[in-house]
Amino acid sequence: MQIETEGIVVKTVKYGEADTILTIVSQKLGKITVFTKASKRVKSPLMSASQIFAYSNFVLTHQSGSYRLQRVELIKNYYKISTDLDKFFYASYFMELSEKLMIEHQTNIKLFNLLKDTLDILLELDTQKLELMRIIYELKILECSGFKPEVLKCANCGIIQLERSRYFSIIEGGIICKDCSSKVKPLMEFDKTTIRFVEYVYSNDMSLAVNAKVSKIILAELKRLLHHYIEEYLGTLNLKSINFIDNY
Ligand SMILES: [Zn+2]
Repeated sequence: MQIETEGIVVKTVKYGEADTILTIVSQKLGKITVFTKASKRVKSPLMSASQIFAYSNFVLTHQSGSYRLQRVELIKNYYKISTDLDKFFYASYFMELSEKLMIEHQTNIKLFNLLKDTLDILLELDTQKLELMRIIYELKILECSGFKPEVLKCANCGIIQLERSRYFSIIEGGIICKDCSSKVKPLMEFDKTTIRFVEYVYSNDMSLAVNAKVSKIILAELKRLLHHYIEEYLGTLNLKSINFIDNY
């Protein structure tokens, strides 16, 4: 059976002499593993279309549980990202996180589009903005995978917060109103701007959110919030790429 789908290469592993196993976040099939022949050979027409960050149209065959690459046509190459070490590390982290979060063979158009937008923005992004981009990406990917934190109403009693709360419960998955703050434990406390920024990210496109001016203090708070939140809801992910961006 032949299947055609657009997809983004999020991981490549070489095997044998010149063959590669690709992990692709695809539009139609969700995350899939694809076996390719000789895509690493010099001058192979498959090469640019099947390297990391490539956005391509793939023609695959499905045989005994695995996908094999028949043809591939490059739609957009994000290889330029790899020429900037900072951007490369961040892009690798974004790809690895998406790869961990996506379930094999489960279509997730939102996540697929998020990856495409992320790569588009990264190409032109000022490296000073990478940390902010990471926060926005993490918030957006949590939404795409069904783990969006609640920032509009109290996660405990459901009351709509007209004046933003500064309390956040990781276990309840969102902000906690003043009345509930004495009952819900443990609580994290943030600047109101931090909570407002999360709300802003969820109501705007990534390309707009990345242009926001965010102070170092707020960035640090967002990082702290997301670190604990991701650990609680996604577990310990053991991402290799995170060491590069956290220790860089
Ligand atoms: Zn409440």
